[in-house]
Amino acid sequence: ALEVRLAARPTGWPTEDTFEIAEVGIPTPGEGEILVRNVFMSVDPYMRGRMNDVKSYVPPFQVGAPLDGGAVGEVVAVGAGVEGFAEGDNVLHGLGWRDYSVVNTKYAVKVDSSVAPLTTYLGVLGMPGLTAYAGLLVTAEFKPGDTVFVSGAAGAVGQIVGQIARLKGAARVIGSAGSAEKVKYLTEELGFDAAFNYKDGPVADQLAAAAPDGIDVYFDNVGGDHLEAAISSLNLNGRITMCGAISQYNASEKPTGPSNMIQILAKRLTLRGMLVGDHKGLQQQFVSEVAAWIASGELKYSETVVEGGVRQAPAAFLGMLRGENTGKMLVKF
Ligand code: NDP
Repeated sequence: ALEVRLAARPTGWPTEDTFEIAEVGIPTPGEGEILVRNVFMSVDPYMRGRMNDVKSYVPPFQVGAPLDGGAVGEVVAVGAGVEGFAEGDNVLHGLGWRDYSVVNTKYAVKVDSSVAPLTTYLGVLGMPGLTAYAGLLVTAEFKPGDTVFVSGAAGAVGQIVGQIARLKGAARVIGSAGSAEKVKYLTEELGFDAAFNYKDGPVADQLAAAAPDGIDVYFDNVGGDHLEAAISSLNLNGRITMCGAISQYNASEKPTGPSNMIQILAKRLTLRGMLVGDHKGLQQQFVSEVAAWIASGELKYSETVVEGGVRQAPAAFLGMLRGENTGKMLVKF
């Protein structure tokens, strides 16, 4: 069996040399543990932060040790004293980046592929979906009639943010993404009112053109010039959800801040950071509402699935950082 380890901490952009693929034996589950053969694993932007040796809301990866992250798989063996899990069950857990994971059942959640495709538990009905739901409805205090701008709009979180805003009665939904194809997908498939490619010209100009009456909510996945542009376009009492700043994750120099912070006071803006882990209490409400929209066809989602298992996981992660995904980026074993 194979696992992916952190070979070296990257400075700036990670490369294939950041990772090491190691051959390991198939482990045996101990007391209270299950052995899971992984079927899909997730690659996520936050994993880049964990490659740095800094204290954050999740501990850093260790050099020489396997990486971890969300995965779904099938239980193939059950340790002593395990109750409620049996061979053949599908589970969601946090020990991806390897063919086989030994998981303490406290940290495994049973999932049902007859209720929803296994991939969705890592995407639209999983962590990124909840991030979108909580970040828009709770953190940004979205209300009907708001004009909403979301960056990273074609990604796992962004595409759900924009559609929830539309379904909940936004006046106008605007998205930005990194290619003409993604922009077209947002407006033609997902029902965004306007979208632009941030690589086509200054974000501030493109946002102002897309939102002539300004915006009320900015859902920030990107930071940098997107954040600065949003501050300029926000209306009185506007709100910003600080969800991510992916434009800065691979920066090797200290990023510059928005130059227009003074507008925050003049316009009485609220900037609020959010972490999905604080919103577990919303999980059931989120799943029932979003699953119903998917079933009725009102909410769509996409996934980019890289085949090839563990060996392709580093390339999938690097590809996600470069924007090769539309919707959730996953690796299939
Ligand atoms: P995505 O599926 O959106 O994938 C990342 C995307 O980022 C890429 O597809 C790429 O799309 C875009 N991107 C990369 N570099 C840049 C850049 N320099 N400027 C603008 N866009 C860029 O990932 P997720 O949906 O999983 O995550 C989106 C954001 O949400 C990230 O910032 C992540 O850290 C954050 N997040 C925060 C959570 C929290 O609890 N606070 C939880 C989950 C995610 P493109 O082609 O458009 O450039």
